[in-house]
Amino acid sequence: MLTAETVDRIVRFDGRGLPVSSVYARVDADPGLREDLHARVTSMLDEVNPLAKNEAVQHEARLSIRADIDRIKESLAQERWKPGAIAIFACSGRDLYLEVPLPRGVRDEVAVDATPHVRPMLTVLDEYHRACVAVVDKASARLWEIYQDELREVGKVHDPALRKSNYSAGRVEERVRNKADELSKRHYRNVTQLLDRLFRAEDFDLLIIGGHEYEVPAFIEFLPKDMRSLVAGTFSIDPAEPVLAEVRANANAVLQSYERAEEHQFVTDILDTVATGGLAVAGLDRCLWAGSIAAVDTLLILDSAVVPGVVCDKSGWLARSGAACPLCGSPTRPTPDVIDELAQEVIAEGGSVKHITDDDRLAEPLAAASIRFPLPPEPVTA
Ligand SMILES: [Zn+2]
Repeated sequence: MLTAETVDRIVRFDGRGLPVSSVYARVDADPGLREDLHARVTSMLDEVNPLAKNEAVQHEARLSIRADIDRIKESLAQERWKPGAIAIFACSGRDLYLEVPLPRGVRDEVAVDATPHVRPMLTVLDEYHRACVAVVDKASARLWEIYQDELREVGKVHDPALRKSNYSAGRVEERVRNKADELSKRHYRNVTQLLDRLFRAEDFDLLIIGGHEYEVPAFIEFLPKDMRSLVAGTFSIDPAEPVLAEVRANANAVLQSYERAEEHQFVTDILDTVATGGLAVAGLDRCLWAGSIAAVDTLLILDSAVVPGVVCDKSGWLARSGAACPLCGSPTRPTPDVIDELAQEVIAEGGSVKHITDDDRLAEPLAAASIRFPLPPEPVTA
């Protein structure tokens, strides 16, 4: 599975003088499109091939690129990439070869550069939360990481507790109950400390808690304030024998509703800002203009929206139509999806893009954005 360490390794990778090959390819679910994938990846590698033969490129670098190409071709032939997209980072001369499966499609791209081309990967991964799932009862706790649907155990706590039989009737009852409370408090403190260590060491951004419905709130009370604010949700499960599939399904349900709520909030915030005349715009055309002049801070786009348009590769002008760019006069390049071009542009300019799965308020505008400065008037298109 893809871990924070892998991503970190790629982002920080330094070829120490050798170039890194980065390839992104969309992988369709339809097996009938295998040949298409083969053709697209092969043609991207063909673009890189001249570098591997160019005498002007240092010998060691040429060998490394050559080996990268061979390795990627080998992997392509095995047809084992999962639907969504594949990102490949290779620097054979420095023993780097990593394939990162991405859960959704990205634009095909190839780059050979001093550093890995990580932006498209980071954008996709940004949509997924890395959460810690804690299943807790009065004496035990099991902790997992959940990321992109996969669970990985990250910790376990067992503390002494009084058994039910210790609750004898009569005058000692209260003393025994106090003792039991004290033990469970000590246990909760131990779990909290472990969580604290994990959150410092790992890259978690959310916490999900499972257990008996009657015990979970007491545990949450024990969490320090900053950690309590990371609780994305809770679920009910038998903490004595938590079944992994059940933990995963419950945690995913929590994450999904958290994600939906987060998306809903983004739309609310930006549309409210538009309504009050603040720094935000709604509607694809306004967003395209904002994107053309690097004014977009956060772009919200409706996941299902695909709109053809035009791009000026010289000045970055984006629009639904126009044969010539009104900013520089160059001929434009038609694109099947100008929203995708807009998203790439926003990321390239340091903004962020949020994919909104489903929100009626975006059905008509298709896109909305918070902007960095008020937009100048749009140029008149010919
Ligand atoms: Zn232009």
